[in-house]
Amino acid sequence: MAVLLSTKAATMEMWRDALLAVDPSLEIRMFPDAGDPADIEAAVVWTAHDMAELRRYPNLKLIVSMGAGVDHLLRPPGPPPGIPVARLVDRMLTSQMGEWVLLNVLRFHRQDLDYRQLQAEKTWLELPAPVTAERRIGILGLGELGTHAAGMLRAIGFPVMGWTRRPKQVAGVETFHGAEGLAAMAARSDILVCLLPLTPETRGIVNAQLLGALPHGAFLINGARGGHVVDADLMAALDSGQVAAAALDVFTPEPLPPEHPWWTHPRVVMTPHAASITIPSSAAPQVVENLHRARTGQPLINLVDFAAGY
Ligand code: NAP
Repeated sequence: MAVLLSTKAATMEMWRDALLAVDPSLEIRMFPDAGDPADIEAAVVWTAHDMAELRRYPNLKLIVSMGAGVDHLLRPPGPPPGIPVARLVDRMLTSQMGEWVLLNVLRFHRQDLDYRQLQAEKTWLELPAPVTAERRIGILGLGELGTHAAGMLRAIGFPVMGWTRRPKQVAGVETFHGAEGLAAMAARSDILVCLLPLTPETRGIVNAQLLGALPHGAFLINGARGGHVVDADLMAALDSGQVAAAALDVFTPEPLPPEHPWWTHPRVVMTPHAASITIPSSAAPQVVENLHRARTGQPLINLVDFAAGY
């Protein structure tokens, strides 16, 4: 029986080596060289893989996302019926995202865009001192990534709030849920951080209504998915000053075309979906663990809840 890998060629080799380092007995196939379709018992795939293609493998027991997000796997036609999907919950993914959020919170909190502009103008000007304890951070999504980022922000003294689907308690974080909770948190979020999964409920959630509910001059940080943000609404909010600046790691579409206004917008800081990148050697043990569990009929870990969409 074999594991099918599907992503960019260079990354596929890293995955193969990482999986073999954990279990040298694994038989690895690299898409499109799947060999006999009947051999494939698990598929470890990233965004470009066509879910319809996975219906070719009659003995498939498990699909694993090469990242924390699974929206690319669940959109139509979705995984073959009855086949479980697992995602990555990985210490290195989580800490990278925490660093990226912290980087951008501090960038905005410490007026870095303004100081860079002043430097370009050779203007010596001290801006008012920022007060950490008064800069309220609202995080959309307090899952693996949001909870960790919240802890990092709390550790340096920011007041942190978080919004979830179901009621949730997180030590030191003021929590909200549901539509009313979103409005209440937004009204007090000087910096809004999006770390939600992309689902039918969350698509387009960062829209004119939500941006308009933020305090005037708030900041937006999106490390989740481009589909969470309505670009035209964010552009209007930046133009009016309702949103002072945005840090964006994810876009619609990706790669972002060169003519897209975000590339040159003076109040937008971009990274190319690089906030948190899977490191195969870190992620491989849980994939092998799940494969062994699937083979022996034990409960799988990090399973996706199809009904919830994440
Ligand atoms: P997770 O552990 O599944 O957490 C998701 C959080 O979002 C949970 O707190 C969940 O609420 C909340 N949520 C989901 N639907 C909601 C809704 N309709 N209303 C309110 N809250 C909702 O996910 P994660 O591991 O933190 O990852 C989050 C996302 O980050 C991924 O799905 C992926 O898209 C993105 N990501 C981006 C990068 C990058 O490099 N840019 C890297 C990794 C991941 P409950 O607590 O109530 O379930």
